[in-house]
Amino acid sequence: MISKILIANRGEIALRVLRACKELGIATVAVHSTADSDAMHVRLADESVCIGPPPSRDSYLNIHQIVAACEITGADAVHPGYGFLSENAKFADILDAHGITFIGPTADHIRIMGDKITAKQTAQDLGIPVVPGSAGEVLSDEDAIKTAREIGYPVLIKATAGGGGRGMKVAKTEEDLLEAFNTARSEAANAFGNDSVYMEKYLGKPRHIEIQVFGDGAGNAIHLGERDCSLQRRHQKIWEEANSPALNVEQRMKIGQICADAMRKLKYRGAGTIEFLYENGEFYFIEMNTRLQVEHPVTEAITGIDLVHEQIRVASGNGLSVTQDEIVFSGHAIECRINAEDPRTFVPSPGTITHFHAPGGLGVRVDSGVYAGYKIPPYYDSLIGKLIVHGRTRVECMMRLRRVLDEFVIDGIKTTLPLFQDLVSNPDIANGDYDIHWLEHYLAND
Ligand code: ADP
Repeated sequence: MISKILIANRGEIALRVLRACKELGIATVAVHSTADSDAMHVRLADESVCIGPPPSRDSYLNIHQIVAACEITGADAVHPGYGFLSENAKFADILDAHGITFIGPTADHIRIMGDKITAKQTAQDLGIPVVPGSAGEVLSDEDAIKTAREIGYPVLIKATAGGGGRGMKVAKTEEDLLEAFNTARSEAANAFGNDSVYMEKYLGKPRHIEIQVFGDGAGNAIHLGERDCSLQRRHQKIWEEANSPALNVEQRMKIGQICADAMRKLKYRGAGTIEFLYENGEFYFIEMNTRLQVEHPVTEAITGIDLVHEQIRVASGNGLSVTQDEIVFSGHAIECRINAEDPRTFVPSPGTITHFHAPGGLGVRVDSGVYAGYKIPPYYDSLIGKLIVHGRTRVECMMRLRRVLDEFVIDGIKTTLPLFQDLVSNPDIANGDYDIHWLEHYLAND
């Protein structure tokens, strides 16, 4: 049994995990940098440990400090949240060596899915549909030309170690190919210290649809339906919904079943998300995230299942609390990511929040650690909160979202709230008619 969890994260997700621990009667340890002493999760935790100065590499990414904090406080498990060390196999190995439970999958599974070529190969072997592309790394100009001819233009060159949409280049024709190939390689070398790239068919107007999966590590696995995260800016999701406006029940259950079967074969443990591009009725695997996602609350809203409770249960060796047949998908949910950014230029806007009023009412959830008087430090991600709205239908959900956005007040800094007020009134969004490029076009033409 787990009795004390150290939360190796900050912001809204640290608070989210803390809430789950409190409900389960598990003691909590917050760790924080010197910039985060005032954070809500630090105030609410049973114990807290300062692990270093503001830069993440010296605090939230500092494995030695975090392990030392576990030893000082006697924490027997670590929840990594998302980002930071959540997909760091070495961290999982080190905790294991210290007899501390990592609330997540095995280090091996993190490694497999962290390398994009291995991940894609593994997905294919497990029966998951993948984007047509090179068999592995593309090594030379000749190899690039040959592979692109086989796949057919346009093609996308992607970094094996990629993340955050960096190191990706499109070649529309053979004339663009070598420049795209060599630029992608040098960008990858600069961003990730690894110039390995691979090639995929470039899909013109796909949606981003991802499946939430959960395994118990012993060969049982379930899926919790999909999330549509097509509204993106620079490959960053800003609005997520469940269910996807593009899928019907049969399509949902079919792709969900394929993913759950794959996780069963893999003996996957804990929460995971299998990401797809979806175009003309076909799913194409792009990657798997071996952690909790920012957008997990929309799945919680439509299933009623607390995913962090479930993660802790599985990590404690108690298995899943539900079977596939017991999962009921109910209504529709939308999440808006509230960033401390200018709503048009997306330039970060750190500073002090002078006034904060969160909306309420039926079907409304606000996950945020900020409050009036809180000073947003300039060192971290600009996500300051998430607004999640649930309704019986998508139409009801949108009506509620419009009302709730009018009620939300965050003064003193710029936030992305006004952008969502525009989006919720847009006819394409109302119709669910958007792909992964929609938002960029909308912002460019506005
Ligand atoms: P990262 O790990 O850098 O986020 P992903 O493989 O998840 O990389 O891709 C990020 C985004 O890039 C996707 O959500 C999609 O918008 C776009 N993308 C990725 N692969 C393709 C493809 N084959 N065709 C078109 N767009 C793609």
